[in-house]
Amino acid sequence: MKYQIGSENRPLSVAIIGSGPSAFYAAGDLLNRTELNVQVDMFDRLPTPYGLVRGGVAPDHQRIKNVTKIYERIASLPQFRFWGNVNFGTDISREEILKHFDCIVYAVGAKSDRQMGIPGEQLIGSYSATEFVGWYNGHPDYLDAQFDFSVEKVAIIGMGNVAIDVARILAKTPEELASTDIADYALEALKNSRVKNIYVIGRRGPVQAAFTSPEAKEMLELEQTEVIVDPEVLKLDGASQRFLDTTKNRDTVRTMEILQRIAGTEPEGKPRQLHLMFQYSPLEIYGSNERVSGIKLVKNKLVEGEGGRIKAEETGIIEELPVGLVLRSIGYKGVALPGVSFDEREGIIPNHNGRVVDERTKEICSREYVVGWAKRGPTGVIGTNKPDAIETTQHLLEDFRGQTAEAPEELKRESIEAWLKSKKIEYVTFEGWKRLDQHEIDEGAKKGKPRQKTTKIEDMLKIIK
Ligand SMILES: Cc1cc2nc3c(=O)[nH]c(=O)nc-3n(C[C@H](O)[C@H](O)[C@H](O)COP(=O)(O)OP(=O)(O)OC[C@H]3O[C@@H](n4cnc5c(N)ncnc54)[C@H](O)[C@@H]3O)c2cc1C
Repeated sequence: MKYQIGSENRPLSVAIIGSGPSAFYAAGDLLNRTELNVQVDMFDRLPTPYGLVRGGVAPDHQRIKNVTKIYERIASLPQFRFWGNVNFGTDISREEILKHFDCIVYAVGAKSDRQMGIPGEQLIGSYSATEFVGWYNGHPDYLDAQFDFSVEKVAIIGMGNVAIDVARILAKTPEELASTDIADYALEALKNSRVKNIYVIGRRGPVQAAFTSPEAKEMLELEQTEVIVDPEVLKLDGASQRFLDTTKNRDTVRTMEILQRIAGTEPEGKPRQLHLMFQYSPLEIYGSNERVSGIKLVKNKLVEGEGGRIKAEETGIIEELPVGLVLRSIGYKGVALPGVSFDEREGIIPNHNGRVVDERTKEICSREYVVGWAKRGPTGVIGTNKPDAIETTQHLLEDFRGQTAEAPEELKRESIEAWLKSKKIEYVTFEGWKRLDQHEIDEGAKKGKPRQKTTKIEDMLKIIK
């Protein structure tokens, strides 16, 4: 007997891989449609949901993390289930998912990072911001990472919001960090930090910097760190000034105003300094005994390229900056999932507005969809993922509209649980996660923190049980 897919008797069953913002926005859109009967099963390789909201967003940005309240409401819908601690690619495969569900939505983000491609990048003391961010946020992948804070000078390459997050965590005092949900071991390590100078290095000028005005403003509020901007670099070239005078982007104007304020402020003699170094490109990280001891930079000038875009052009003036730690923050990058189409160059799952495309044949892969950073690359804030996910779910629903099918045994909800059990996967349900969540909040409250993160997967599983 055949039923309409999405009808009362034959729900549309969707597997979402990943549980970050894009996954929840996709689930929310699918489950809030009254005209359709949709079931969502969300899988994450970690026992904890929310992706970069837990593992990326800075620990001193708790207000931003409140977005998880919206995701909790979605998770409370009866047609939603969460299966944490289930890794797509090892625990479950694409073929199995396609057997048990009508379709897959990949929401796996971009977990790796881009390399600069300069000599010395592999020296001890040179790391990606991805590692550092994962480490201070207690992401289980980075628990063993080690950073040497006995050095006095640190360079951060890149000038986006992530670079500023990293600089701020290095610049804050243990007292400023103690009331956040930073991982315990990170707070301990940073208590002994001897870092005095933090250099944030950007290729282009202040008008082109990718960090936003709230991040700029926060730099002014650092208790023990002075922010240093060379006033000369704020004397804009013609093209940058024209852009600033005509841009509709109020945030760029606000950021410039804050930078002017910083440059015009007399130093107060605070013990740490955060230097915003505009118009420099890294050429080489050098070291002795395999350890970073400095970075070679070239000064850039700004030139107007095609379409008015302002480019950085090397001047040939070389400067050396002695530093003991280099953190590169030049962008995240997706990694391929086993058996799933992948665009190596862009680091994304190739797609046409969310419908996955076979990288070789360029044909649409039916029943496979993608959202979030895995779809468009590592750009945009949490909110950007909502319209992005809805574009995909609209196409998904279009593809299934009017289709009929039988109700095979594999698509039943109980079959999915039985399937995971038969594979001996130690899965975590949303109720399980809520137990861990409450435990973390209770433990945090004892120390005046929003939460005390559990960082080892085995400990998470013990608490959940
Ligand atoms: C350091 C940092 C700080 C940020 N700070 C802010 C901020 O303050 N404000 C803001 O608005 N935005 C911020 N962003 C941006 C925001 O985090 C992203 O826009 C958003 O998280 C992207 O959502 P996503 O769902 O595509 O990916 P993610 O959030 O990365 O989620 C991907 C999920 O997929 C899971 N996964 C991956 N592989 C597998 C697999 N094989 N099997 C099962 N599950 C898998 C992961 O465990 C993860 O839960 C920040 C980003 C970074 C990197």
